[in-house]
Amino acid sequence: MELTKLGILLLAGVVLWVIPNAAQTPKRAPGPAPTARLQAKANPVARPRLVVLVVVDQMRGDYVDKFQGQWTGGLKRLVKEGAWFREAAYPYAATETCVGHSTISTGALPATHGMVANAWWERDSQRVVTCTFDPNVSNVSYGGGTATAGGDSAWRMRVPAYAEELRFQSGGATRIVTFSLKARAAITMAGHKADAVTWFENGSWTTSSAYGTMPIVENFARANPVQAELGKKWELSLPKSSYFYDEKAIGAVAPGGWELTFPHVLHSGSTNGGPDSAFYLQWATSPYADTYLTKMAESAIDQLGLGKSGGTDFLGVSYSSVDYVGHAFGPHSWEIQDVLIRLDKDLGELFAHLDAKVGRGNYVVALSADHGVVPAPEDMQKTGADAGVLHVPEIQAKIEKALEPLHYSKPAVARVASSDVYFSSGVYERLKTDPPAMRAVLDGIRSVSGVAEVYRAEELQDGPATQSPIRRAEAASYFAGRSGDLMIVPKPYWLVSGAPAGQPRDYGTGHGTPYFYDQHVPVLLMGWGIERGEYFGRITPADIAPTLAALTGVTLSSRDGRVLAEALGRAGKATAPVAKP
Ligand SMILES: [Zn+2]
Repeated sequence: MELTKLGILLLAGVVLWVIPNAAQTPKRAPGPAPTARLQAKANPVARPRLVVLVVVDQMRGDYVDKFQGQWTGGLKRLVKEGAWFREAAYPYAATETCVGHSTISTGALPATHGMVANAWWERDSQRVVTCTFDPNVSNVSYGGGTATAGGDSAWRMRVPAYAEELRFQSGGATRIVTFSLKARAAITMAGHKADAVTWFENGSWTTSSAYGTMPIVENFARANPVQAELGKKWELSLPKSSYFYDEKAIGAVAPGGWELTFPHVLHSGSTNGGPDSAFYLQWATSPYADTYLTKMAESAIDQLGLGKSGGTDFLGVSYSSVDYVGHAFGPHSWEIQDVLIRLDKDLGELFAHLDAKVGRGNYVVALSADHGVVPAPEDMQKTGADAGVLHVPEIQAKIEKALEPLHYSKPAVARVASSDVYFSSGVYERLKTDPPAMRAVLDGIRSVSGVAEVYRAEELQDGPATQSPIRRAEAASYFAGRSGDLMIVPKPYWLVSGAPAGQPRDYGTGHGTPYFYDQHVPVLLMGWGIERGEYFGRITPADIAPTLAALTGVTLSSRDGRVLAEALGRAGKATAPVAKP
């Protein structure tokens, strides 16, 4: 990490000092920072003053079609004034939070950026690691809270985020600021180094030593304690008749302490009534957390003067509450409909704030989501379609049973994480040279209810030429050393659950499959350089970073995505090549 930082500093030093003034000893002159001077000289081209990346965690692409008639704020404005890509979808199988955010932020696919899941089995250390877990940094809490043990950074992300490249290539004046409830969202949007990267954990706003603390966040956290939201009541924004579906969402599993009907009161489960983990989960599952993130972002815009650095600043906000609400209540719920109505209002306020402080037309906004969601299986079953729950422990049991008579040491499976099977050390190597045992394992897995297919790592490596869209999607999220030995594909509309068969699951529904309901997400661009309109061509969220890069004169290392040239206005058309169909 430090070597990288040193490398960047040395490189910057060479560019700034040695070339213009080779004979002299480098010495810092008084006046504006050298990076800003470089920016001023080298930046006669018009650029947006601020890039705003908004990610809605778990927003299905069809929510825009379905609910926009009830929107009047920022989501509506994006649809009306922006470029709406209606057929945007991830081309890979691992439709999870860390993967989606990393794809949006880098313009690369997981086979390139390496963030293959929210968490995976690390073979070297024989443990599950989250995508952001970094043993060389420690987390720091704001507002006098207690940070969780360990630390988080983007060190496992194998390519820089667009925001990092923007700062590096434009001379350093760029400020990078991101907010989310989730570390894996705030961190991957920003990249390896940034000015302020903030997430919510253990009842506190948190960052890590990879980024350092920022006084404006400390002041905001102290002035606006989340604990003060205890007792707030989430009520329907519109009359009951405005809501689709059933009042009680079918297959829903409400967070502890909540019923399946409105209103939802944020309350404590502890005897003293103080803020506890039940309250924090309810808060995260309410529109109040989105509103909080909006106000926090507005405070950063004001306090840091984002959009006024002389370069192009970067603000990233990932709204997590739609994901918590979706996991609990599912996509066919009054809760999802209402939390989006509230988010529309929050985003309306955020854009109005940006208009006032940065200037309408001086900033560019990109909104997308990290993945969609599947309806709760009980809800889907009502249609007569094949839907159900795939119980991961059953897969594990079938593998052990298949290998028992073949004298493999137990346990043969080290872990099943997401849909990836990781064998104990040496087992998979042996299976590859033992066809009867391999066949027994694969047949065992295929016999589990809800399994559509299982792929071996060798079938996914090196971008195989295949006609199968599912296998191609699995290959696009395969990263050697991190992905499993076997990758399970559930049947469509089957929910993958870690709960044993016959036991209740702790959430209503989920995501993470190569099916369109998980892959299809909104992509909306608005503002500087963007041509408004509806676009029906198939694109992916990996196209967002290359498009922002084209608008800001930045070169990205990966070209997994392409420039969305069809939506670039006069400014963009001058700089962006027209993509081949
Ligand atoms: Zn997510």
